Amino acid sequence: MEIVLATGNKDKVREMKAAFKGLKVKLLTSSDFKVFPKPRESGRTLEANALIKARALLKHTGFASLSDDTGLEVAALGGSPGVYSSRYAGYGASYDDNCRKLLREMKNFSRRTASFRTVVAVCFPDGREFTVAGKIKGVITREKSGGKGFGYDPVFRPSGSGKTFSEMSLAQKNRISHRGIALLKARKLIGTIIKQRA
Ligand code: IMP
Repeated sequence: MEIVLATGNKDKVREMKAAFKGLKVKLLTSSDFKVFPKPRESGRTLEANALIKARALLKHTGFASLSDDTGLEVAALGGSPGVYSSRYAGYGASYDDNCRKLLREMKNFSRRTASFRTVVAVCFPDGREFTVAGKIKGVITREKSGGKGFGYDPVFRPSGSGKTFSEMSLAQKNRISHRGIALLKARKLIGTIIKQRA
């Protein structure tokens, strides 16, 4: 079975490929297509945006598709940036811009709890579709630390860990992360569907 990953983000693709290792699927990415749809993420929830992306890709390619939408929810900021995490510091903001803005906004807060939430949507050509979610709690650090990962990884330290996501290997992060949890659920469901078709 082929599944197209509905993201142009190389960092996410790396995590998705690692999470699906050993599963009997061929993962296709934007580089396998001349034109790759990039629909407007106009939903108000992670679920809605994940489905918008996966449905658009299924329609365009005819292949099963998998997308993810992720938000960082910071308690002291009333759940922001949430669904707006990618454009927190404005449209076209870099990972560093977003981290810096977050550290600035959090400067005077001692309550630093936050959580990452990912929703993965999978759509199949026969009309079946599902969403699964993963969440991890942690804190926003006082400064950036670590050189791995992407996005807000340098400023997010999962509860019970002495390291930020950026200080972990890809395998360590995937084992506990919001996306790792959601992808594991998706992997199980896709595995069941593959068996049914065999
Ligand atoms: P989106 O799912 O691509 O819309 O991600 C929203 C924002 O969260 C972007 O700024 C990403 O860089 C960031 N982000 C997504 N996943 C992660 C992650 O696993 N770690 C850190 N930041 C992430």
